[in-house]
Amino acid sequence: MITINCPFCGPRDEREFEYCGPHRQKRPDKINEMTTSAFIDYLTVPENPEGEAKEVWWHRRGCGAWLLVVRNTRTHEIIKVSELDAT
Ligand SMILES: [Zn+2]
Repeated sequence: MITINCPFCGPRDEREFEYCGPHRQKRPDKINEMTTSAFIDYLTVPENPEGEAKEVWWHRRGCGAWLLVVRNTRTHEIIKVSELDAT
C-alpha cells in the first residue's frame, strides 16, 4: 500500500489516485526526422526504469489535481510529490 502526500489534500491512500503513466518532458524536437518505428515506439512503449522514476498521477477520488510523483520503482518509496506543471 502506497501513501501519496497530495500537496492539496495531505496524505492519502493510493486507491484515491490513478496512475497515468511515466512523465515525459516533451515531444521529441525533430519528430519529422524520426523513423515511423521510432515514433511508434515513442507513443506506445512506456519507459520502465528501475529505481527513481517520474510519474503522472491523478487524484481522481480527491481534489482532481494532476500530480508529478517521483517514486522508487524498486521500493515504492514516494520521494517527492508536486503539482504537475502543464507547460
Ligand atoms: Zn488532492
